[in-house]
Amino acid sequence: MSTVSRRIASLQAGLQPLLDFLDHSEHAKRIGDPTICDFVFGNPQEMPLEELVASLRRHVVPGNKDWFAYTIREPAAAKAIALSLRSRTGLPFEPDDVHLAPGTFGALATALRATVDPGDEVIFLSPPWFFYESMIAVTGATPVRVTLAPPAFPLDATAVDAAITPRTRAIIVNSPHNPTGRIFTAAELEAFGAVLARASARHGRPILVFSDESYNRILFDGRSFISPAVSYPHTLVLYTYAKQLLAPGERVGYLAISPAIADRLELGSAVLLAQIVGGWQMPSATLQRAVPDLEGLSIDIPALQRRRDRMAEALSGLGYDVMVPEATFYMMVRSPIPDDRAFTSLLARHDVFVGPGHIFEMPGYFRISLTANDDMVRRSVAGFAAALREAEGG
Ligand code: PMP
Repeated sequence: MSTVSRRIASLQAGLQPLLDFLDHSEHAKRIGDPTICDFVFGNPQEMPLEELVASLRRHVVPGNKDWFAYTIREPAAAKAIALSLRSRTGLPFEPDDVHLAPGTFGALATALRATVDPGDEVIFLSPPWFFYESMIAVTGATPVRVTLAPPAFPLDATAVDAAITPRTRAIIVNSPHNPTGRIFTAAELEAFGAVLARASARHGRPILVFSDESYNRILFDGRSFISPAVSYPHTLVLYTYAKQLLAPGERVGYLAISPAIADRLELGSAVLLAQIVGGWQMPSATLQRAVPDLEGLSIDIPALQRRRDRMAEALSGLGYDVMVPEATFYMMVRSPIPDDRAFTSLLARHDVFVGPGHIFEMPGYFRISLTANDDMVRRSVAGFAAALREAEGG
C-alpha cells in the first residue's frame, strides 16, 4: 500500500537517471567540498552580486502595513517587465500581460495548467531541460518528443510538423538552448512559426508556444537573441532571473502573454486562476518589489565568455571535442569513450565533476557548467588531462 499518488509514481521511471545522479553519484557525496571542481549545475560558486543583495535588503524593509500582504502583481514590476519585453521584441506588451512567477519552473507549470487538458499532446524538443517531459505528464497531457539532429541541433520545423496531430495543444521551445548553447536563428523561427500557423488553421485551434527564454541574456560574441514571439503570435514567454543573476534559489521570473493573442484578456484571467489554484505560484512580495532593480542587473557576461574561451581552449588543446556555445552557461564536450557515465566517474576520481550526457538525452557527451569559478577552471585542467589519458589507455 503506497502513500504516493499514481500520477507522481508514474514520473519516477522517466526521471530515474537524474534522480540516481542527484542521490547516489560521487557528486552527491562531495557537493560543497572545496577541493572539487564543480561543473555540474548552474549554481553559484562565488558570492552573489552585491547589487542584488543591496536591492533585497532595501525592499525587505516595510514601507507601509501592506508590505507583506498577498501580492499578485506588483505594478512597478509588471511595468518594468512590459517595457523590457517591448524593447526586446518590438511587440506592444502591457503590464497586464505580465504574470510574476517563481522562475521559469513556476511559469511553465502555470502555462501548462492554464491551457492544457488531459488527452492533449504537448511537444518538447530533445535534448530537453530535465523536467519538461514530467511537467507535461503531470498535467495528464501526453509529452511528444521531437529530436534535434547533432552536431548543429537546428530547430527542425519539418520534424515538428511531422509530430503535430489534431490533439497538439502546445510546444515548448528553449532558445538559447540548454544544453547545446545554441540560439535559434530568425530563419529557423520563421519556418517554425509558419508550420505552427498552418497546423493551427488546419486543426481549428491555435497551437501555443511556451517559449523558455531563461538564458536570453547570457549571450556570447555580441550575438543577439530573437524571441519566438516575434514570428508566431500564440506565444507565452517564460523567464527566470536566476540565470542573469546567478541566484536560482531566489525564485523570481514571469510568464508574459503575447499581445498578439486575440483572447489575451481571457487567457490572462485563466493564468491568474492557474497560479492561485496551483498553490499561489507567485514570487514573494519582496522579490516582486525588487524586479525593477533586477531587470538592470547581470553577472559579468564578458567574464563568463572569457571562462568559456579558456575552458574550450584548454580542453581542445588536450584533444577533447568541444561544442563551443553561442549562449547559456553550458558547454557540451564529447566523451572520449562512448559511456559518458563511466567517463564522468573517471573524471570524478580526479576531483572534476561534470554532468553526464545521458541525463540530458545526449549520451556520449558530458556537460560543463561555466558557473564554476576561475580557480576551479584552472585546477581542473590536470584532471581532464589525466582522465583522458586513462580513457585512451583503456
Ligand atoms: N528552463 C531551463 C532551460 C533551465 O535551464 C532552467 C534552470 N536550470 C529552468 C528552466 C528553470 O529555471 P528556474 O529554476 O530559475 O525556474
